[in-house]
Amino acid sequence: MKTIGYAAHSSDAHLVPYHFERRDLRDNDVAIEILYSGICHSDLHTVNGDWGPQPYPLVPGHEIVGRVISVGPEVKNYTVGQHVAVGCMVDSCQECDQCHNHEEQYCRNGMTPTYGAPDRINGEITQGGYSKHIVVREEFVLSVPESLDIGRVAPILCAGITTYSPLKTWGVKEGSRVGVIGLGGLGHMAVKLAVAMGAEVTVLSRSDAKLEEAKGIGANGILVSTDKDAMKKAASSFDLIIDTVPVKHDINIYTPLLDIDGSLVIVGQIGPLDEPMTAPLVMGRRRVAGSLIGGIKETQEVLDFCAQHNILPECKMIRAEQVNEAFEHLSKGDVAHRFVIDMSSLSVDA
Ligand code: NAP
Ligand code: ZN
Repeated sequence: MKTIGYAAHSSDAHLVPYHFERRDLRDNDVAIEILYSGICHSDLHTVNGDWGPQPYPLVPGHEIVGRVISVGPEVKNYTVGQHVAVGCMVDSCQECDQCHNHEEQYCRNGMTPTYGAPDRINGEITQGGYSKHIVVREEFVLSVPESLDIGRVAPILCAGITTYSPLKTWGVKEGSRVGVIGLGGLGHMAVKLAVAMGAEVTVLSRSDAKLEEAKGIGANGILVSTDKDAMKKAASSFDLIIDTVPVKHDINIYTPLLDIDGSLVIVGQIGPLDEPMTAPLVMGRRRVAGSLIGGIKETQEVLDFCAQHNILPECKMIRAEQVNEAFEHLSKGDVAHRFVIDMSSLSVDA
């Protein structure tokens, strides 16, 4: 199938229109016309080469929402016309303990990311959601609850699941004291989801510039991480802190904010950190942990949770040709929402 997307051709992170083909349908494949695609900071890291050399040309995008246009003969759960979604993975071995445990993101044999990795069967490099169409095996397709506004669903597929999974894993409930570092795409979903679970949520931000946005989505307020006095006063006041900062940073200013047995869960920057100071960990049985997206079953769960609690990401809709501008904003960190590409702005005949 001929399609068009926006691709990076080198690590200068400048995306341009790119014509390419999607594979012929396998028996268990679903072909999707993409309607909306969210822009994640991971897309920027990847095309920039922050996580190593990439197989350019590369079409990023792993927050995908669309409409089924055809299905392979063995597809059981999807029919033409249905609204569906695809997140950060498109395949895994389906045989190891992690896959059996619905944690395909930790597949022992390596899951296949939605873009930039070889397909398990033919070795072709996967291409992501900044495009008009995608073909994905049924097991990695999600269904979109009808009650959700289809134009605002896409960020749930990465920002939503990546923050929902640690909130669930660390048992957030009514009255839990949750801190969220960085009010961007992931951070704003962490706030909305934790508030819906009954938590008292505080945003830890570099300034109070995003105070209105933080309060508007249910946070109690902002703790300014550069304000040493305020940080000192907040010692031992959180059960869980989710860290979404996308660059190398010092986690030692945050660990003393945890109460005894509290955890700081890193979902942001992947790579070297300054060394954690052991005293706050030892003196209060505090933990520093990490978390990668979430499994397919849990991704369906967060979509259903959002439908049940009327949670929708704050989306700024853009046209495909504005993607480079959106990347500039992400690198500055000046947004408290998600950019979402309206794919009707891109035509295969362009
Ligand atoms: P984003 O929208 O750009 O938000 C990141 C936020 O971090 C910014 O809005 C900013 O918030 C804060 N920030 C930015 N630069 C900073 C700096 N130099 N120092 C301190 N804080 C800074 O990014 P995102 O899409 O939410 O992604 C965040 C990170 O999560 C990225 O590294 C991404 O790759 C990663 N990620 C991980 C997973 C996973 O599975 N673990 C999944 C998706 C994304 P304030 O202005 O409030 O400080
Ligand atoms: Zn992402």
